[in-house]
Amino acid sequence: MAVDRRSFLKFGAATVGVSLLGFNETNAEANDEFADNYAMLNDSTLCIGCRGCQSACKEAHELPHTGHDKRYEMPTDLNAQNLTLIQLQRKSEDEYTFIRRSCLHCNVPSCVSVCPVAAFTKRADGVVAYDKDKCIGCRYCQVACPFDAPTFEYNSATPVVVKCDFCKDLRLKNNETPVCASICPRKAIKFGTRKELLREAHKRIKDNPGRYNTHVYGETEIGGTSVMFLAPAGFTFEELGYRKWGETPPGQMQEEIQHGIFKYWIPPVALYGALGLAAYTLGKKNSNKSDDSGEVKNES
Ligand code: SF4
Ligand code: SF4
Ligand code: SF4
Repeated sequence: MAVDRRSFLKFGAATVGVSLLGFNETNAEANDEFADNYAMLNDSTLCIGCRGCQSACKEAHELPHTGHDKRYEMPTDLNAQNLTLIQLQRKSEDEYTFIRRSCLHCNVPSCVSVCPVAAFTKRADGVVAYDKDKCIGCRYCQVACPFDAPTFEYNSATPVVVKCDFCKDLRLKNNETPVCASICPRKAIKFGTRKELLREAHKRIKDNPGRYNTHVYGETEIGGTSVMFLAPAGFTFEELGYRKWGETPPGQMQEEIQHGIFKYWIPPVALYGALGLAAYTLGKKNSNKSDDSGEVKNES
């Protein structure tokens, strides 16, 4: 791991929030392998929608501005030029809030599970990293991500997948706070460890009755995420564009399906036979499309 997390946490206590120090570690935290991972808590009740985080992220990553006025650029979704964005979610004339989108740096990331060449990796510090030199552009990660975070450089001759990198090279490696969290004038994005920020989130809910939706999004969804959210009371997370997920990570679900197949005695040989037949049929079809030189002809 590139970052010395122990020393970072020691000297970064002020950033994380001194009010949280001095608590004893709970059993749940002691058993949580992700408790000390880097994390961010987004509090929608504090966000004023200034989009400073969005703009600062672009500047720091030297991504091109697409609008004529960079300060008022308003993309409607994540794309290759925007690793994070702030969305206005309105229920009525008077009821609205702002919510941030980005990669959530899942504890058990689907992008890592499905990538056939290990271009995505979950680092020991919690960051989900992407290596463009390994990527073959299959875009399985895009399909598999429960939060629609990875995007693709459609307009590039050498396209790569793009997503929030947690400022790992710009900030974390120097023991600094990620750009979006450091720039926010309202401290609506807080950086720390997952354990500390979960304590903080529950403390805010407890200390401010009626202010918050009492659920912390990302605490348990698909096995938990490093980027987590607090929403205002009266808003569900689905209304804010975050789908309802169970606690089981998709990778684990696949395992359970496979185990189910064996449990109900579908003989493996039947499965492999079916796969073999499919491969043979496909191979035959392709060979019909090729001449002796191996050149592929278009079907007419
Ligand atoms: S949000 Fe998507 S891209 Fe980010 S770690 Fe999770 S699965 Fe991967
Ligand atoms: S952590 Fe860095 S890369 Fe990710 S959204 Fe914030 S500023 Fe952008
Ligand atoms: S910088 Fe802070 S207040 Fe401004 S949009 Fe981002 S999260 Fe909201």
